[in-house]
Amino acid sequence: MKLLTYADRAVALVNTDDHGAGQDHLQCGDDVCRLLPDGWRVSHTVAEAGLQELREARPRLRRVFELAATGRVERATDALNKLLGDFPVSASISDHTTGWHLHLSDEPQGPARSYVTGAAFGLAYTIAERGPERLGLCDALPCRAVFVDTTTNSSRRYCSDRCATRANVAAYRARKRGDC
Ligand SMILES: [Zn+2]
Ligand SMILES: [Zn+2]
Repeated sequence: MKLLTYADRAVALVNTDDHGAGQDHLQCGDDVCRLLPDGWRVSHTVAEAGLQELREARPRLRRVFELAATGRVERATDALNKLLGDFPVSASISDHTTGWHLHLSDEPQGPARSYVTGAAFGLAYTIAERGPERLGLCDALPCRAVFVDTTTNSSRRYCSDRCATRANVAAYRARKRGDC
């Protein structure tokens, strides 16, 4: 697994709280099963047991995105360092595919714990490798979904094509109104 892709876990977890639609997609064991990577094959009981931990980590991860996306880098990294302290990483090295690479080890406390540990690590690794400006917050209100900006010039503003279209249409209408 590419270490940068661990950040995708943070994005997926934070975005289960859909501000734009006013819907929370992390409320039961089934929601946890949907969130966890397919290969994990977690039983419903285990998924249910991890719900609380995921729900508690979610606003903490969101906070890191919000602070980083609004230029409050020091506070973002403080918040992230607290998460890393609470969810310390254990790693192993493997050559099961082509060449030696690092994996984060499964946490003995269970899959929810492993998931959050990976998510926090992914944000830390992204900031260290690519810079805090890579953590983004969708500009198309009321959507407040988060994303990791992988564009070459760090120019991404929206979480999705749908939000980009919506924002462009709104801007076009506003311009038109201004013309009248
Ligand atoms: Zn591997
Ligand atoms: Zn959006």
